[in-house]
Amino acid sequence: MKQMKSGGGWAAIRYTLRMANRVGWWQLWKAMRSKNACKTCALGMGGQAGGMRNEAGHWPEVCKKSLQAMVADMQKGLRPEFFQRYSIAELRTLTPRELEWCGRITTPLYAGPEDTHYRVLDWEEALERVARQLRGQAPDQNFFYASGRSSNEAGFLLQLFARLYGTNYVNNCSFYCHQASGVGLGRSLGTGTATVTLEDVEKTNLFVLIGGNPASNHPRLMRTLMNIRRRGGHVIVINPVKEIGLVNFRVPSDLRSLLFGSKIASLYVQPHIGGDIALLTGVARIVLEQNAIDERFLREATEGFETYRTHVLGTSWETIERGSGVDRATIAKIADMYIRAPSTVFGWTMGITHHKHGVANVQTIINLALLRGMVGRPCAGLLPIRGHSNVQGIGSMGVTPVLKQKILDNLETYLHVKLPARPGLDTMACMKAAERGEVRSALCLGGNLFGSNPDAQFATRALSQLELIVYLSTTLNTGHAWGRARQTLILPVRARDEEPQATTQESMFNFVRLSDGGPSRYQGPRSEVEIIAALAERVLRDKSPVDWKTLTSHCHLRQMIGQIIPGYEKIAELDRTREEFHVAGRTFHTPRFATPSGKAQFAIPAIPLPAGSEQQLRLMTVRSEGQFNTVVYEEEDIYRGQERRNVILMNHADIQRLGLHVNQRVTVRSAVGSISGILVRAFDIRAGNALMYYPEANVLVPTTTDPDSKTPAFKCVLVTLTPDYVPANGQDEAAAGRRPLQLAH
Ligand code: SF4
Repeated sequence: MKQMKSGGGWAAIRYTLRMANRVGWWQLWKAMRSKNACKTCALGMGGQAGGMRNEAGHWPEVCKKSLQAMVADMQKGLRPEFFQRYSIAELRTLTPRELEWCGRITTPLYAGPEDTHYRVLDWEEALERVARQLRGQAPDQNFFYASGRSSNEAGFLLQLFARLYGTNYVNNCSFYCHQASGVGLGRSLGTGTATVTLEDVEKTNLFVLIGGNPASNHPRLMRTLMNIRRRGGHVIVINPVKEIGLVNFRVPSDLRSLLFGSKIASLYVQPHIGGDIALLTGVARIVLEQNAIDERFLREATEGFETYRTHVLGTSWETIERGSGVDRATIAKIADMYIRAPSTVFGWTMGITHHKHGVANVQTIINLALLRGMVGRPCAGLLPIRGHSNVQGIGSMGVTPVLKQKILDNLETYLHVKLPARPGLDTMACMKAAERGEVRSALCLGGNLFGSNPDAQFATRALSQLELIVYLSTTLNTGHAWGRARQTLILPVRARDEEPQATTQESMFNFVRLSDGGPSRYQGPRSEVEIIAALAERVLRDKSPVDWKTLTSHCHLRQMIGQIIPGYEKIAELDRTREEFHVAGRTFHTPRFATPSGKAQFAIPAIPLPAGSEQQLRLMTVRSEGQFNTVVYEEEDIYRGQERRNVILMNHADIQRLGLHVNQRVTVRSAVGSISGILVRAFDIRAGNALMYYPEANVLVPTTTDPDSKTPAFKCVLVTLTPDYVPANGQDEAAAGRRPLQLAH
């Protein structure tokens, strides 16, 4: 498959036309124009401004990712015959993409220990099965998990149910993605989210993009970066992989860009995977050596600068170059562009957070920003580029093992009860407790807990120890086939634009949108809030201080949220004003931070040096252009020129050095697992490093986590490659492509 010369462009337009033909032009137009926040990424689009419009009011703002999610929700419903026909063992032979496109789940589904197939249940029996399990065990024998696609109202209600049930075993998908951003920003600035608005990014002079590929995962950010370049600003990209969409991007809704392309990166730097701390310490060293620092800001608004300066100036260039895999001259170019920029925004994604030193990575970025006072003023600051469209909101609502003190106090005051004080468990800790048989059930609000876990064999094993797992889902995923407990229950939910009542979502810019919802596309599915309230009522009966029926009113939930969640006061008026808002106290345009002293804190992160022997490669698991998180919509990755997903992308020099050849079939091994039938592919990635697709490559990823963020190290897994046996005829299944299950439904 030929690799594209730029991102976006005609390919995105052709995809839109194909999808419109698939679901109907008018249906798709109506769906995309409805006043609902985009279902995909947290950049944010839609809401009361109307579909395909961003908070700056710009239109059209839409991308292939948004269409993929919408069209998936518009596919036909799955009939009971499908589950009578296909056994769970057969579902296990399907790829994540094939499962996603089977159709919408429309009826409650159940599989017991003896069942080989899922069978349809009615809602009454389904809800009572869950309630019976939860009533019959201790509160800390169940954990509550939420994905970042659910609404604030559903997230708030889920954590309320959990706490009134008596447990803090509450967590969400950000523990496996951006938790390090929250912890790092919290320690350095006292906040856990972006310090900038979209407008700040639009108006900055320099955008430093680290460890991510938003051309694939947040495509509309490319328009913003294009505008920065058009205004004479610059974009520095730091990424071990040369991502074509970060070199040149054709913004489909901008004719000039569509026809002639738009340069994105002014400078593209490819360090080792895990080499960011060394690299940015090198940049800081040059800034300090040239005294290009904001002395007044450092004096008045920070603490710990002198210790940090000594640490940086004491770090040798040998360590910096070896640790980063980047030469001093290139580091000097980054420093020079940074020093000359009147304002800078640093943005990062999971290339920074998916490490054992994820929090240290984040604090290293913050340190560099503090040196030149690039936080706490307009057009400058820090931007964790988050995944799911409401992953930040779910965290803000308290779907976390530890509640912020203010939220806990407000909840206890509002409810007039003492809530459980026993420490909660994060996502990996819950999985480990399940493996040890300490928890007996789990309630998963959206997402794919199995698929997002490292070490897939561990995940299957751990979840199979549970007596009951409940998934609230819209479509099938690998978790429904591989993440089963002794009893597995799937409850179909309505998608965001099918909600009977308005819901809210919080973007990565702390902007809260109101989504109007819309008519249901199918009879069976119910809203997330309705299901959670019904379960809570059955489990807690008259033992709780709230009337769960009243809490099925989203408007009532917003009244509660406005009184309990700091910064969300305006949500209580939202139904009347319909004025979307930025969460208060999150954007920093003045150098006064939310730390106890009000000052930003420098950190002294240790510099990790590249691990691994000559025979090993540092592997990172990544998303393709055809997927969003664990949801795979397309087999091919058009931006990397890959027509399939069972590939490992390596530097040509490594292929030769290891005596391999392109398209050779190999087994990739790590400390915890192996995966065979993987084709070697040459790609522009820093030598010594390689990439494979998530979630399939998770079998290779250990369950070790960053001790501070509890996030597994999905990046920087040491692997070896051994050639697979290839039959005499040179033809084999993997090369010939797997013969998929013929789905007739
Ligand atoms: S960039 Fe993100 S928020 Fe914007 S349309 Fe695409 S998926 Fe939706």
